[in-house]
Amino acid sequence: MGDLSKRLNIPYTNDEIGRLARTFDAMIDKIDDSFKRQRQFTNDASHELRTPIAVIQSQAESALNFSHSEDEYRSALATILSEARHMGKLVSDLLFLARSDSRAEKLHMEELNFGELVEGIVAVLKPIAQDNGIDLKVIENGDFIVRGDQTHLTQLLYNIIDNAIKYTLPGGEIKISIEKKGEFVKTSVRDTGIGIPEEHLPHIFERFYRVDKARSRENGGTGLGLSICQWIVSAHGGKIEVFSEVGKGSTFVIWLPSL
Ligand code: ADP
Repeated sequence: MGDLSKRLNIPYTNDEIGRLARTFDAMIDKIDDSFKRQRQFTNDASHELRTPIAVIQSQAESALNFSHSEDEYRSALATILSEARHMGKLVSDLLFLARSDSRAEKLHMEELNFGELVEGIVAVLKPIAQDNGIDLKVIENGDFIVRGDQTHLTQLLYNIIDNAIKYTLPGGEIKISIEKKGEFVKTSVRDTGIGIPEEHLPHIFERFYRVDKARSRENGGTGLGLSICQWIVSAHGGKIEVFSEVGKGSTFVIWLPSL
């Protein structure tokens, strides 16, 4: 129970005052929870930002204070650049979530050919998958029209396919299929990657939740991608699901209302 409601100290009798006290306490509990979540988020965000700052600082100090070969200077600069890029990504993901929390993130809805949108994103990501020895292809598609925000839906698909590439080993495959199911357009992104242990599945859409933090970081991940995806899907009146088996692969299924 929240601190404020404790201070009120009114028994939950069955009269109007008792019922009001119960309602009031429930509201205070909700506000309390929301503050707790916000504090946790700020804590986690500060912690995540501290790591790249510490690396940048130590590399720059070492470069300034000791003499190095040209190769060593180059390597320090490359590390600084990569950490700065990671921070940039982290800050833009954090800003997105802050805007969505404060309802400042607006959707610009229009009629979109969803099948074409997916093909466009696959064309951009295919060479990256190929560089990683992964075969990425659309195996089932059609002219599916949805009402959506093109920038947000692009970000959603990009995040999910990019994750599939990041968590699949060379020689693996990513297959995308889009079909109409009742009132929805169903998109499945199936990879033959490392998979997600069952106990982690209920948490992977939480902010900063990562199954393997070191691996995520190595891949440039912030641990915020799936929370952003979930926000985008629900803002469109859809839902996102995940099925996975360790060592076999994962399937992310996106349901969006069809037109
Ligand atoms: P990250 O930036 O770490 O990739 P996300 O929010 O996108 O963060 O994903 C959260 C976690 O879910 C990842 O760290 C990873 O452990 C797991 N994950 C997401 N997609 C996949 C996938 N296709 N295969 C295996 N694990 C995945």
